[in-house]
Amino acid sequence: MKKHNFYAGPSILSQYTIDNTIAAIKDFDNMGLSLLEISHRSKQFVNVFNEACALVKELLEVPEGYSVLWLGGGASMQFAMVPFNLLNKKAAYIDTGTWASNAIKEAKLFGEVDVIASSRDKNFSYFPKDFTVPTDADYLHFTSNNTIYGTELRKDPDSPIPLVGDMSSDIFTRKIDVSKYDLIYAGAQKNLGPSGVTLVIVKNDALGKVERTIPTMLNYMTHIKKDGMYNTPPVLPIYASLQTLRHYKEQGGVEKFQALDEEKAAVLYDAIDNSRMFVGTAAEDSRSIMNVCFVMAPDYAELEQAFIDFATARGIVGIKGHRSVGGFRASLYNALPLDSVKALVETIKEFEKKN
Ligand SMILES: *Cc1c(COP(=O)(O)O)cnc(C)c1O
Repeated sequence: MKKHNFYAGPSILSQYTIDNTIAAIKDFDNMGLSLLEISHRSKQFVNVFNEACALVKELLEVPEGYSVLWLGGGASMQFAMVPFNLLNKKAAYIDTGTWASNAIKEAKLFGEVDVIASSRDKNFSYFPKDFTVPTDADYLHFTSNNTIYGTELRKDPDSPIPLVGDMSSDIFTRKIDVSKYDLIYAGAQKNLGPSGVTLVIVKNDALGKVERTIPTMLNYMTHIKKDGMYNTPPVLPIYASLQTLRHYKEQGGVEKFQALDEEKAAVLYDAIDNSRMFVGTAAEDSRSIMNVCFVMAPDYAELEQAFIDFATARGIVGIKGHRSVGGFRASLYNALPLDSVKALVETIKEFEKKN
């Protein structure tokens, strides 16, 4: 039985992505060779690479003057690469949870960090709305979707200085105005492909302004100058990501997924809000459409494991909440069908009836 996959990451991918990647592992582009055993400089793979970059630009309407890179090291590597390359004296950060805090920790290694807003006071259950962005900072960094706490800012913040966005868990789920950003990064394993590659979109003019020496591999310019192929890129994750991008385009692009994702989230939040046993943990105006976090109401706290077991028996996997929040988390990434959300809603209703 195909499972209803609510894992937070690595997470569900489209069947199109899985099938085409399997086919290429067996025989890539009729070369009589596996994707796993060919040169990254073969014309067949260079075509894959170029198409993946072009589709990112098309789907996100990236303006001229930006480069698309596919880097190793995960989104966590970007926590350091961003300030290494962009922070001269001072940067502003919004602290909305574990990932943002990790980014802040790394930035402090490179200069002054002004944490202009934080939701730590309420266990990161909301996205701070009131903050003043210092005009003398080099950039404002924010995490658009907080995968662990289920909060999201579904717009580009107003800022007098360039933005840097960690969009690991909500890229390709809404239109963004890329021109407001110096840099956007996203680990692939939430909404794009398998783990092992991180998508980076960087404004060329934002680079080369810091005075420090940057190690070759950690310098964005190294990769830009060599068309993303300074060293061996993660061939397999890039191939799989290209399949997802093709699928996104075929299905009608970001706007189509935005509508679908909003519908899926509405269906699930509605079920939670109308249940007596379950409560959502995120403030209503900050609710993520990607990661829906909820817990048992206090009177039913002892039923938590029973609900997980009940859901597992119905083919629902990956709904256990992150250990820092507890309870449940259902991740509704682009590849998750509405039917899986309906199956979870049915499970919630049946569980309530039985208990
Ligand atoms: C998962 C995640 C990360 C960490 O990604 P890695 O690729 O494991 O380093 C960073 N930021 C956000 C928002 C995430 O969801």
